[in-house]
Amino acid sequence: MELKKLKGFRDLLPDETPLWQYMEAKARRVLEAFGYREVRLPLLEDTALFRRSIGEATDIVEKEMYTFVDTGGNSVTLRPEGTASAVRAYLENGFARSAPKARWYYLGPMFRRERPQKGRLRQFHQIGVECFGWAEAEADAEVLTLLWDLFAAFGLSDRLRLEINTLGCSADRAAYVQTLRAHLQGLRSDLCPDCQRRIDTNPLRVLDCKKERCRQLTSDAPRITEAVCPKCSEHFARVREILDGVGLAYRVNPRMVRGLDYYNRTTFELLAEGLGAQNAVAAGGRYDGLAEALGGPPVPALGFALGMERLGLLLDPEAAPAPVPTAYWVTRGPEAAARALALRRELAARGMGSAMDLAARSFKAQMRAADRSGARFALILAEDEMASGTVTVKDLSTGNQETVAVGELISYLMGRIATPS
Ligand code: ATP
Ligand code: MG
Repeated sequence: MELKKLKGFRDLLPDETPLWQYMEAKARRVLEAFGYREVRLPLLEDTALFRRSIGEATDIVEKEMYTFVDTGGNSVTLRPEGTASAVRAYLENGFARSAPKARWYYLGPMFRRERPQKGRLRQFHQIGVECFGWAEAEADAEVLTLLWDLFAAFGLSDRLRLEINTLGCSADRAAYVQTLRAHLQGLRSDLCPDCQRRIDTNPLRVLDCKKERCRQLTSDAPRITEAVCPKCSEHFARVREILDGVGLAYRVNPRMVRGLDYYNRTTFELLAEGLGAQNAVAAGGRYDGLAEALGGPPVPALGFALGMERLGLLLDPEAAPAPVPTAYWVTRGPEAAARALALRRELAARGMGSAMDLAARSFKAQMRAADRSGARFALILAEDEMASGTVTVKDLSTGNQETVAVGELISYLMGRIATPS
């Protein structure tokens, strides 16, 4: 076949979707228990939204966005992340005035044109949360503990490490950028070409460079943690104090600056063992200046996003087995098939799944398929059953058979599945 999916895009086939449904269902339960409510936002937005929020001199905006001009002549972009859209929706729908304190979550696909590899796709999926309206350190602590508890719910706490940092306020950051730039100038010729460019455009990103050589060269670069103002230091100390109080382990990583422009104060990453180079499963931080940057009033806020593909790689697929029907229909003759189709609808209406082959295969082949399906019961409709208005119910785990009147089938099966085989 000539038509193939695009590089970095994936099909999630029926054997994989149980794991995805499991991730989604569990995440929803945890998030909703903390009072977060779901928002569903557009996949396509005005390109200017991402340019203004994520920042021009970032990897995402410089080279990773799927941007095109639509037939109306507008520049539009497939969302590379969720925060920009969430803040846009918050402002556009008047939350800043009507309900400034809001806890939101979202799940869905994001698009970035980067080099595909294990744990890195061009269409990937995130679960994200945004906590709007609180500048207090308690909000940072809520979001961090929520992130931790989300992964704990999947049984992953032993394999994770939380790293946190503070970027201070925009004044701190501006001053630090000057100091850092001056320091990096001295290393310029030894850094990679990307980092040489970053010294001029966005020096913070040099600290983010994944190349070992650049990391070594910058290991004794001035640290932002030591350059933040007393108010921001106090905020960070309070966040740590709350985390210490609840026994949530973390490491302060003064090099972690995050790739996006909009962060201030607390930033964090959750790292996992066993994912190779793509070891960040979730990341986030505070972005108190973003609403204003998008033309709204100031709105203190923070959030995180986790990568569902990477979460999925950490999980045991057995945690989410494929669905098994309760029963499997075995029929002989066209009238029996028609009756089975009708009874199947009645079972389905009561939430009971039953499988059937739609081709008139031999009785024996159908019985074999019933055994293989994992269903607990075979529901047999042959000449005798058709003549007497009954169904023969065979318990496939014991081999026992009983004859049940068609009108009693549902209550019979309900009674049987309420008791273990
Ligand atoms: P990385 O350092 O791995 O590129 P990032 O800092 O670009 O990550 P964020 O923008 O913070 O990532 O997104 C949050 C999470 O989304 C990441 O921790 C990761 O789990 C996931 N993620 C980001 N980009 C991809 C991708 N291309 N494919 C799969 N998952 C991704
Ligand atoms: Mg990235």
